Amino acid sequence: DGVLMGELSRPCRMMLLVNPQSGKGQALTLYNNHIQRMLNEAGVPHTLVITERQNHARELVKEADLSQWSALVIMSGDGLLHEVINGLLERPDWEDAIQTPLGILPGGSGNALAASIHHYSGASPVSSEELLVSCGFLLCKGLVSHMDLVSVHLSSSPRLFSFLSLAWGFVADVDVESEKYRHVGAARFTVGTLVRLASLRVYKGKLAYLPATKDYSNERGLRNNKTLHCNYQASSLSPASLLCRQSRDSPCKNTFHNSCHSNNSLKVRRRESTPSKSATKAVPGPSDSLLLPLEQPLPSDWVVVQEEDFVLMLAMYQSHLAEDLLAAPDATLDDGVIHLFYVRAGISRTALLRLFLAMEKGTHLATNCQHLVHTKVRALRLEPYSPKGIITVDGEVVEYGPVQAEVHRGLTRLITG
Ligand code: ADP
Ligand code: MG
Repeated sequence: DGVLMGELSRPCRMMLLVNPQSGKGQALTLYNNHIQRMLNEAGVPHTLVITERQNHARELVKEADLSQWSALVIMSGDGLLHEVINGLLERPDWEDAIQTPLGILPGGSGNALAASIHHYSGASPVSSEELLVSCGFLLCKGLVSHMDLVSVHLSSSPRLFSFLSLAWGFVADVDVESEKYRHVGAARFTVGTLVRLASLRVYKGKLAYLPATKDYSNERGLRNNKTLHCNYQASSLSPASLLCRQSRDSPCKNTFHNSCHSNNSLKVRRRESTPSKSATKAVPGPSDSLLLPLEQPLPSDWVVVQEEDFVLMLAMYQSHLAEDLLAAPDATLDDGVIHLFYVRAGISRTALLRLFLAMEKGTHLATNCQHLVHTKVRALRLEPYSPKGIITVDGEVVEYGPVQAEVHRGLTRLITG
């Protein structure tokens, strides 16, 4: 605690934002029982910030002196990370701010990103406290990777950024209805799914997308892993080496044991920020080159889905929709792709239930369900016809109505171990 590190001898510590109300309201207890000791043993200095209300974290990171922090880590559900990412991208210096390494520890009831990171690490599936310990371990390793973000346009709200999902229909309804079952923790989605199945309905709308047909891996200089490896060198840390201490003979490659992320050597090549000719208004954040304003017709190279009767539309950019729902099994952290799923109307309750049960192991795509469609896209637009309904972004309710989205490959960075 209180160690000074880095070239400029600035205090270089992690900000750990804990939402005491998330999940079953046990995030602070979980911190005390597991995380505090892990971080101390790994030599990761950190400052605990307990969030007091909605948008507290968002306002905090919007104003923070980020040069003081090696990483911003969220211990809550996905909702708090959503706030932090949007706070960073609302800053005038968003291009640097969004490079601040982020981290996530599952403390909420919706811990989809934590489950995704655990999945990417190659470990076999676990849940609740075991997932927390795994993510704590990955966090202590301190290795940073790029992560895709998706910009989301709604008809009258400001643009927002999403790291996980955009949902309409069945999944969005479950997201919201299951809030009242949050006392059961991650099982809230299972309970919510069963309840929603009983009142299964059809959602009408027009769905269109820009297919991801070519390989974008060299586009926009975002596969700059070399830069990352100089400082966040991949290593196979054993639990014992978690106890590594900085020493002159063998410098540790851990994020927290090096200088702050704002150190020049850590700068990742900047993305071009071309002036907007499209849907992006004069606001901070990258411009959306693939989107036209929502009130204008679709660009000619977009595909319009024939069906207009759906049971659900789900756009995913990471593997997990919830701790035990592997919705996009082949998604990776920065594949630059939106995994678009939709289920056509006409599916039976039994078939839909079978899909969600298969999703626990990620085998739903292999069930040959004729109503389920999966396609990889770079952008999409949805125009719901029914006047009332629910759309969620990262599990949070947003303005209902026309919505469009575009993926920004590797826009942010996440500690993935
Ligand atoms: P969960 O997965 O349990 O829903 P989230 O991280 O999604 O956990 O948190 C839910 C919401 O709680 C977020 O929108 C966040 O803004 C809000 N929040 C943060 N701190 C507090 C607090 N002290 N009291 C009430 N709500 C809070
Ligand atoms: Mg939530």
